[in-house]
Parts: sequence; C-alpha cells; structure tokens
Amino acid sequence: MLSRQEHKIDILGNIPFISIHISSLLIFWVGFSWAALITCLILWFIRMFGITAGYHRYFSHRTYKTTRWFQFILAVLGNSSAQLGPLWWAARHRHHHRYADTEQDIHSPVVHGFWWSHIGWVMCPKYSKTDEKQVRDFAKYPELRWLNRFHMTVPIALAITVTSIGIALQLCIPQLKTTGLQMLVWGFCLSTLLLYHTTFTINSLAHIFGYRRFDTTDSSCNNWFLALITLGEGWHNNHHYYPASERQGFYWWEIDCTHYILKVLSWLGIVWDLRTPPQKIYEHLSLIITHQSSKTL
Ligand SMILES: [Zn+2]
Ligand SMILES: [Zn+2]
Repeated sequence: MLSRQEHKIDILGNIPFISIHISSLLIFWVGFSWAALITCLILWFIRMFGITAGYHRYFSHRTYKTTRWFQFILAVLGNSSAQLGPLWWAARHRHHHRYADTEQDIHSPVVHGFWWSHIGWVMCPKYSKTDEKQVRDFAKYPELRWLNRFHMTVPIALAITVTSIGIALQLCIPQLKTTGLQMLVWGFCLSTLLLYHTTFTINSLAHIFGYRRFDTTDSSCNNWFLALITLGEGWHNNHHYYPASERQGFYWWEIDCTHYILKVLSWLGIVWDLRTPPQKIYEHLSLIITHQSSKTL
C-alpha cells in the first residue's frame, strides 16, 4: 500500500479542479436552455475524442500514424479537456500499463481502493510531474512541450470562447434564452466535469466491473456501458491484452465510436496505418467460443 505521505492530497494546488465541481452546481442558478445543453454535450464529445483518440490511442500507444499538424490538433483537443498536458498524460498511462494492478500502479482500484483510483491520485502532488523518460518519442516536439508546460492555456481560451458565444447569442438571438454565464456553466464547467468522471471510470470501474475475455495479469474488464460513455474505452480487457491495437472493440458488436471516427479520418487520408488485433487473437477466440457452445449443447 502507498504510505500516508504518498496518499497526500493537495487542496490548494487543486483549486481549478475543485472549482469545476462546485461551479457545475450553478446550473440550478443560471437556468436551462437547449443551446447550453447541446453545447455541453458537443464539447464533451469532441474533447472525449481528444482524450481517447489523442492522448490515449495516439500519444500513449502510437496505434496509428498521422501528420505533425494533426498530431498537434489531437494534442490541443486532449489538452482542452483540462487533464494536463499530452506528455504528462501519455507518461502516466504508459506507467499504468507497465505496472497494471501491482503496487507500483498509482491508480489501481484493487491495490489502492476505488476512490483513490478514481479521483485521489489526480489530486496528489506527487504525481503531477511529467516523467519525460517515458515519452522521449514525443518530448522532442517543441509545440507539445509548450502545451505540456502551459496546459491551462487551451482550457482557459475555451472557457472564454464559450462565454463570448453565449453573450453573442444573448444579444443576436435572444429567443434561444441563453447568456454568457449560462454557456460558461453548462458548456464549459459541467461539460468538463462529465469529461473528468467518464474518463476516470476507466481507471476505477473498468478494473472492477465487467467480464474478462482474456486472462491478463491485471484485473481489467470489458464493460459495454463504460464503452458507451467513453467512446469505446470500456473494452478495457481487450485493450490491456493487446494495447497496440487502434480499435478496442474487437468485434462489430463491441461499440467503439473513437474507432469509427478514426476509420473515417483514415479514408480521408488524415490518419493512416491503423493497427488491428493480430489474426491469431481471433482464431484463439473462435476456438474458445466453439468450445463453450459445444459444452452447452
Ligand atoms: Zn487499465
Ligand atoms: Zn492504454
């Protein structure tokens, strides 16, 4: 177990993170409009794609290739989710795969408990530094280093933009019944809050609830509900078994929205070399399925 010192949470250093939680409660004060709700959901979706396709499948695992300019777009999208920089995120995640569900895994729910894995480690100053040794391949790009260092720039710019759009809509299309403050609370604060906790479920719930198709050394599970709310990340046991694959749903019925979008981007030539699970995995699985169905006959 981690010592008391290693489990120390820094309240002052997490004021922006805590503020997102508290300010989301203002939805009851600023009122509702369809424009604000739709902005909230669209910004959740786009930024979740930035996390799954960018921070996770590209920067952490290099499961496909792209140009330097689209690499930067992916970094900005991931960065807009207010989950620190691309180098920090990828370094932490590579460490998770190396030590998954052992003492060294800093967000294992089976070793350190549910709340620590879900939110505690995020608020612990010990883990806020970027371990550059883990991400030498991307640390050579100055634009990524800049985003990683000034990771608050993009989220603050997004909050200002969303508020400005709200003010413009209030003045130009008053029948939408929105305001700058309402758009800030719904479109930025609540959307970011939803983004935090849907992303965090993969560290916490996806290592506890679901079924295990592959007998991996960790406790990762496949969970269709988590896959729906994270654009495909809930096929976490598949992912831990073969992290080099761009697609995490290994079959058509394993809904993986990030994969569908990346597939379309590959048809447009924006990304390429999407890595797939090797054929031997499917052959092995078809043997298991045949064996199970013959036992039930
Ligand atoms: Zn995991
Ligand atoms: Zn991963």
